[in-house]
Amino acid sequence: MTIRLFSELHLNVFHIHGIVFQILAFWQSIVNTSKSTRVNIEIRDLNKIYPNGNHALKEVSLEIGNGMFGLLGPNGAGKSSLMRILVTLMKPSKGQVLVNGLDLQKHRREIRQMLGYLPQDFRFFAKLTTWEFLDYSARLAGITQRKARLGAVEQMLEEVGLYEARNRMANKLSGGMKRRLGIAQALIGEPKIIVVDEPTTGLDPEERIRFRNLLSSISEREVIIILSTHIVGDISSTCTDMALLNSGSLAYHGSPDKLIEKARGNVWQISATETEYQEIQEKYPIISSIPAESGWEVQVVARDVNGYAGEQIEPNLEHAYVNFMEHELNQRWHEE
Ligand code: ADP
Repeated sequence: MTIRLFSELHLNVFHIHGIVFQILAFWQSIVNTSKSTRVNIEIRDLNKIYPNGNHALKEVSLEIGNGMFGLLGPNGAGKSSLMRILVTLMKPSKGQVLVNGLDLQKHRREIRQMLGYLPQDFRFFAKLTTWEFLDYSARLAGITQRKARLGAVEQMLEEVGLYEARNRMANKLSGGMKRRLGIAQALIGEPKIIVVDEPTTGLDPEERIRFRNLLSSISEREVIIILSTHIVGDISSTCTDMALLNSGSLAYHGSPDKLIEKARGNVWQISATETEYQEIQEKYPIISSIPAESGWEVQVVARDVNGYAGEQIEPNLEHAYVNFMEHELNQRWHEE
């Protein structure tokens, strides 16, 4: 009896000890999450199958650390599905996401507080000025104190270059300004993870550059920016790390430079006559073509260009993307 009681007590002590330990570990991870400047996202064997059977994500595993992370892939690759899971708007069918070691499904509230999201189809409420909209976003982000909110809104408007437009109706702003207001609402609670989905679609070249510069200046803070896009130019040299999704699978994960390295020797500049130019269009993916005196100066991705006056040139990321799609994934690349 005594022995039984003792062993039960012993077990209970261990049991309680275990629970206390778990609670302490949990609090420690929350404290670390909110205080630490480093952020880490671990995506493990993620799958998403929609009710209609579309298998949008297939066994995707990735680790993302501080800095700007570029997620590249053609339309339908699964980028938005992955983004929606990361920002807790959708549950995966299988797999796990850990943020600083915390399971996304189990700690949605804590992780949401660390997130800022600019969705692809970002819309504003009608009848709010730029200022009012951002003030509203700041409330949602938990900045309840009026004075603090005022300061945060003003600072953010300055940062995204919309201070002059603060009294204009938000839904009447230009496309580029709307995007900048979109990023402002994503940034206002000082999130640690900022997710932007196809941010430059529909922007003119000047606004596109301005938006890219804005993101790259933000990426210098201790944050993760996940930039999802089908436009290679968005994954600028400021992306420290990148992944390529194709038909729901992870096709590449590494630095942009490594992807570029894979294209070395496969990028050509051809001086072509008009007739040759027609042939070349059928044979190789064309990156650019400029009219020249005697025909065309054409840049193509190909293993060789036998029969044409071609010379190899230094690859850039756009070449590298096309090269990867064509030669490693055996998929015909189409410019969109
Ligand atoms: P991307 O953002 O790269 O264009 P998506 O994640 O939007 O890719 O889509 C990936 C695949 O999942 C596509 O085949 C798409 O048609 C499908 N899909 C996306 N959303 C849904 C949905 N709500 N229901 C069913 N299929 C979907």
